[in-house]
Amino acid sequence: MGQKIVILGTGGTIAGTAASPMDHTGYTAGQLGVADLLAGLPAAGNGADADRLIVEQLAQLDSKDMGFEVWVKLAQRVAHHLSLSEVQAVVITHGTDTLEETAYFLHALLMPSKPVVLTCAMRPATALAPDGPQNMMDALAVAASPGAGGVSVVCAGAVFGAEDVQKTHPYRLNAFSAGDAGPIAYVEEGRLRQLRPWPHASTGLLEGRAALLGRLADTRWPRVEVVMSHAGADGWAVRALVEAGVQGLVVSTTGNGTVHRDLEAALLVAMAQGVKVLRATRCTEGRIFEGANDALPAAPGLNSAKARIALMLELMQSS
Ligand code: ASP
Repeated sequence: MGQKIVILGTGGTIAGTAASPMDHTGYTAGQLGVADLLAGLPAAGNGADADRLIVEQLAQLDSKDMGFEVWVKLAQRVAHHLSLSEVQAVVITHGTDTLEETAYFLHALLMPSKPVVLTCAMRPATALAPDGPQNMMDALAVAASPGAGGVSVVCAGAVFGAEDVQKTHPYRLNAFSAGDAGPIAYVEEGRLRQLRPWPHASTGLLEGRAALLGRLADTRWPRVEVVMSHAGADGWAVRALVEAGVQGLVVSTTGNGTVHRDLEAALLVAMAQGVKVLRATRCTEGRIFEGANDALPAAPGLNSAKARIALMLELMQSS
């Protein structure tokens, strides 16, 4: 089995700096290199000694500005490193804002059997008590754990699966939740207390997705937008988007996938015109139960940001 752990840096608050150690909000994300983030950490004690680490700076951005170009680069580098027998796992440092999207994108595209562990911070590296160093140590502990696999997210001592994880708090250190699915594990003193199985697909990269990865850089990403069902949702936005040439629409629904009747009527017209439609619930816990008479398809268990990624990948795969 491989011994190396690759750490890919993409920026975020974990690499952020502020003018004052007391400033937790007025900082600039993506300032320090990933090598700097490792510099002060104890080399041993978490199963991932310094000589086992390979560091690569892939991007340096505030993850609110994440885009397809970085995703393509990230997917290609992760796939490359995972294909090497000497590599045991990949750790990715990332901003918290779109962490769940990147995690789900890598999960849905790569379905890795080796661990791909994303980690982050809610406080900048210059804070009096930053959370990034501990999150990094915990992520390395997960990466080095025998039996770990698939795409996971480590934050504030908890390990979440890519499909379930969601940022649920704008400020506190434990900003992520997996809703009622719960965490996969906790990291305590560098050791894992596992609660449920790892989300890896033992078959590795699915055939269709392998081909998609190969042509991802040259493929035009389809235009997929999110509309919301809410009081007074009358389908105006759907008609405007169809007129503008949208290829896919995710509808962020109320409750168990329910959609305002006027919005639903507009979505059915859009579908008849060839636009792909997918429902995702606005609820932060649970998953949509599909019914035999549902007019619109659903993405049970995915939030709307992830359902959008699922739809984009589906459209790209079939193009
Ligand atoms: N805006 C930052 C980012 O997503 C927030 C963070 O990392 O906590 O990069």
